[in-house]
Amino acid sequence: MTIIGILGGGQLGRMLAQAGLPLGLTCRFLDPDPGAVAAAVGEVIHATYDDPTAQARFAADCATITWEFENVSLAAAQALQARVPVRPGIAALAAKQDRLDEKHFLSELGIATAPFAPVSSRAELDHAIVRIGFPAVLKTRRDGYDGKGQAILRTAADVDAAWARLSSVPLILEGFVAFVRECSILAVRSAEGEIRFWPLVENEHRGGILHRSLAPAPHSWVVQDQAEAAARLVLEKLAYVGVLAIEFFQDGDRLLANEFAPRVHNSGHWTIEGSVTSQFANHLRAVAGLPLGVTAMRGHAIMINLVGTMPDRAAVLRIPGTQLHDYGKLPRPGRKLGHVTIVHDDARRCVELADAVAALLAATAPV
Ligand code: AMP
Repeated sequence: MTIIGILGGGQLGRMLAQAGLPLGLTCRFLDPDPGAVAAAVGEVIHATYDDPTAQARFAADCATITWEFENVSLAAAQALQARVPVRPGIAALAAKQDRLDEKHFLSELGIATAPFAPVSSRAELDHAIVRIGFPAVLKTRRDGYDGKGQAILRTAADVDAAWARLSSVPLILEGFVAFVRECSILAVRSAEGEIRFWPLVENEHRGGILHRSLAPAPHSWVVQDQAEAAARLVLEKLAYVGVLAIEFFQDGDRLLANEFAPRVHNSGHWTIEGSVTSQFANHLRAVAGLPLGVTAMRGHAIMINLVGTMPDRAAVLRIPGTQLHDYGKLPRPGRKLGHVTIVHDDARRCVELADAVAALLAATAPV
């Protein structure tokens, strides 16, 4: 039996374990949350990531260790690395944990981003505003997700309130991008350095949370090469092993990188049914040192997140072609509880069916 250790036991870990079963890979999780939903598919050790005794138990007999979320401390990842190979790699974690380091890392590789500046005092904020101008986005450098820990500064009148709300921690100011759409690329690199890409995905957000992903992104030929080139630079620079996602703003025909995720990503969930090899299977293949699988699509795919409340299961399944994923989580406003994927040969029919799912969600779970 080959055991893969996963830091974090949420839905991403759960879907990794589901993909691991047919490959003969068993996943074991470390997660302080007693309600971690990966418990349905593998052993969960409930302890903090920095607990040395728990780390020893977790790492015992693991072939490799990976993560499903990146806010694990570097010290914990390094302590585990002393026992077992940790993949995608400590360098990926280090580059990602602070938005300022991340933006520097991307721009030093020549990957375009919105203009940005560090902000650790009110004077520095005023300077940054002079340089970047309005509108701009003020964000916490660490621990932000799904649009949390940020404020849009449209005019000078917004600055005081944003500063009062966010200034207890180090910040970054970014130029606001009037994007035509948001996109992401999923890529995977094997232990031997082979790289494969999935097609660029178009992402729609609601309230800062991913609402749906369309794969491939319509008219993506204009920007697919840019996205692949950016992902290749990141993967090679970090000697990365596993799946990587990069989120972009499309500004005209240009992509500006917003952030990267050194792990499987919500905008890649469609790959479970929509691609020959899913992001979860390819991540495990990569970290386990196995050959990568084909990333070709099986049709047009749309993934819709189920956020806050679960719709009636039968009503979803009555819509032709729906694939339902219920993560088994307790409902809570803003919480990702599951997703629905539709794969169809015909792009228009795929959109119609996804619209039917969205209409059902709007009717049964008004947010
Ligand atoms: P993030 O936490 O950086 O992923 O931001 C969450 C969402 O806020 C993004 O998906 C965008 O919709 C929006 N956003 C973040 N940064 C910017 C920006 N610099 N310009 C325009 N919109 C942004």
